Amino acid sequence: MATEIRNVTVMGCGVLGAQIAFQAAYKRFPVTAYDINNDALVAARGRFERLAANYVKNVDGADEHNTRAALDRLTLTTDLAAAVADADLVIEAIPEILALKQETYQKLADIAPAKTIFASNSSTLLPSDLVTYTGRPDRFLNLHFANMIWLHNTAEVMGHPDTDPKVYAEVVEFARAIGMVPIELHKEKAGYVLNSLLVPFLRAGMELVAGGYADPGDVDNTWRIGTGAPAGPCQIWDVVGMRTGYNIMSHGDEEERKLAAWLKENYIDKGKLGLESGEGFYKYV
Ligand code: NAD
Repeated sequence: MATEIRNVTVMGCGVLGAQIAFQAAYKRFPVTAYDINNDALVAARGRFERLAANYVKNVDGADEHNTRAALDRLTLTTDLAAAVADADLVIEAIPEILALKQETYQKLADIAPAKTIFASNSSTLLPSDLVTYTGRPDRFLNLHFANMIWLHNTAEVMGHPDTDPKVYAEVVEFARAIGMVPIELHKEKAGYVLNSLLVPFLRAGMELVAGGYADPGDVDNTWRIGTGAPAGPCQIWDVVGMRTGYNIMSHGDEEERKLAAWLKENYIDKGKLGLESGEGFYKYV
């Protein structure tokens, strides 16, 4: 089944939103990239340019020509009504803050056409947490991408009990059409498949460092040598980004909230946001 989805809008062009928007454009979809103000759009444009250069270096078949064509298929805007006016699919990738997402879906519900499917890239929220704000339960589900989408190309598709199975199937096909391997969840599960495995692992790595038990390099080395895995937890934290780490941990139990405070004091407040800012657990030149 080829996808009937054509016009794609990505809301929020930070770490993940920019990757999703660029990947969809690279796979020939016209993409509208929406963010809240001009500074955010300037940052998004920089992300798109860096992604294009990165694809040329790291993605088989990518060259100056087809990555430039992808950039040309991206329209950046701060006008929400215009961004969704003809959208078949809105992929929401705004910060992981429940109230902000609820408020955003409420706005979207009023202005998006009835045909538009809404998909959240939320890492920790279930479709059920947001569905009442969408105004279209049958056309709402989660579509969860992994960081470094061109390399880690899973797209986890998770509906809620009222998601229309046809909409679900349509989104699975769309995920395939943009080069993802769709992972179909049969029911809601916090953390999907990937984060059900990954988050406890990343938390354990951070606890070892925060508790002063071992340095990031030794934590990672142990994991790589001991299991043959290509990366340890601190390396992965740097790729995920400390802000997302903070948001995840600050919603957890007491121990996780302590880790969130530690992360804020020692990394976020010092501008060490991970790979993106040039320093996290490691320094990048
Ligand atoms: P980020 O902080 O890098 O980017 C968020 C973007 O949203 C920013 O550009 C911000 O300006 C914009 N924004 C803020 N308020 C907005 C609003 N009201 N409307 C539209 N845009 C708004 O965050 P991120 O790491 O890209 O995470 C975004 C979402 O993706 C979260 O739900 C997160 O759980 C999920 N996610 C993140 C990762 C990851 O590795 N970082 C992986 C998978 C899923």
